[in-house]
Amino acid sequence: MTIDIDFFLITVASAIADKQVPVVDLIAVQTRDPFKVLVATILSARTKDETTAQASTRLFRHAPDAASLALLSEEKIAALIYPVGFYKTKAKHLTRLPEGLNRFGGRVPETIEELITLPGVGRKTANLVVSVAFQKPAICVDTHVHRIMNIWRYVETDTPLKTEMALRAKLPAKHWIGVNSILVAFGQSICRPVAPHCDICPLEKKCPQQGVRPRKRPGVQMDNNSTLKFVSWNVNGIRAVEKKGFINMLPDFDADVVCLQETKAQPDQLSEELRNIPGYTSYWHSAERKGYSGVAFYTRIKPVTVHYGIGDPEFDCEGRVLTLEFASYYLINIYFPNSGEKLVRLDYKLRFNEKMIEFAKELEKKKAVILCGDFNVAHKEIDLKNPKNNVKNAGFTPEERAWMDSFVAAGYVDTFRIFNQEPEQYTWWSYRFSARAKNIGWRIDYFCVNEAARKRVKSAAILHDILGSDHCPVELVYQPG
Ligand code: SF4
Repeated sequence: MTIDIDFFLITVASAIADKQVPVVDLIAVQTRDPFKVLVATILSARTKDETTAQASTRLFRHAPDAASLALLSEEKIAALIYPVGFYKTKAKHLTRLPEGLNRFGGRVPETIEELITLPGVGRKTANLVVSVAFQKPAICVDTHVHRIMNIWRYVETDTPLKTEMALRAKLPAKHWIGVNSILVAFGQSICRPVAPHCDICPLEKKCPQQGVRPRKRPGVQMDNNSTLKFVSWNVNGIRAVEKKGFINMLPDFDADVVCLQETKAQPDQLSEELRNIPGYTSYWHSAERKGYSGVAFYTRIKPVTVHYGIGDPEFDCEGRVLTLEFASYYLINIYFPNSGEKLVRLDYKLRFNEKMIEFAKELEKKKAVILCGDFNVAHKEIDLKNPKNNVKNAGFTPEERAWMDSFVAAGYVDTFRIFNQEPEQYTWWSYRFSARAKNIGWRIDYFCVNEAARKRVKSAAILHDILGSDHCPVELVYQPG
């Protein structure tokens, strides 16, 4: 099915007419200043619009043009733009920006080829500056444009760069300048990255919905054939991620059960809002040591029973395992130990790992078993960026990988690899060296199932677009029958 792109874009433009305009467009309209558009675009990468707007306002108060930016130190710029994503790296680039602009007479150049020679300016930024600041034909392909054009099957591409090239060959020129701002606003409000709101989308009847699992309409009851969505996420501190909008994020996952690891909090340290998110019941298993480890569930489905730990005090004091029993299956939420610096906890981890197999095998005698969480191990070389450099490091030692082999040999299936054999599919990135921006990561978060559950698995995915932790969530769609 080929879509009518004119109809789709016009329909979307009118659907988002009352939605917030992306911040970079707003700055362009308000200032008509290419320098400010360029700087705001650099700041906006991996940052919420609201944060970009506030950081831009602070910075422009001190540096409304390249000459005044040149007078600011890198530390001062970093302080002004904090907390945009990767603010230290961006401060470095902005410090060098005036010097880069000098090559163009102190002005922002108008071509993509010239723009990408500036520090911190990639193709996406260059395209956006050309189209928004100079109103010249360019197609800025950010994550929303790439995603939505593939959902519509207007292109079939696996990277934003390929999408840009495909659109250059196919998209009528009249849409080039506006397509980014329309689809960003649409992607932020209706066709959201997780559980798009198809029920309120004017394109619902005509959209190919490639690879989409729409949110469930509020109030619709499940029948026996309904699929369930589970999301697992190492949040690296529930209180930290609360400050980054977790409570608003949770309904957007549209998950029936959300499994969290490394919550680093005991129930009495949680806010009332976190404990009682509307529509969900939460269960918490925390470590005895404050601010350490811990797992939790938010569930829309009432479990038959809840099991805390695995019945071994050596491990249960660290709050690492929480299990929900449902009618036909168990869902086990696990935060596997990290082997630690110099592998000081490798033995502990391997003992824990063996116990986990025993625990799951016991449950398996009664019902299907789904295990999810941060396994703290990349199984195969394809599951991390630099396998050769990491064979002696926690998470990729021969011992940990051998345990994962034995786990698979015991009948457990890594659901993600049923559907996706591609490299560079990661779920964890170091906070250092801009690792996430460069996709230098590891796949250490999994949904695994036993043989009885495998035939009921409908899809498995990594939710790369979800920010807030050094891990991103992973998802499983399951039909319990
Ligand atoms: S129908 Fe759903 S998937 Fe298609 S454009 Fe609308 S929100 Fe996106």
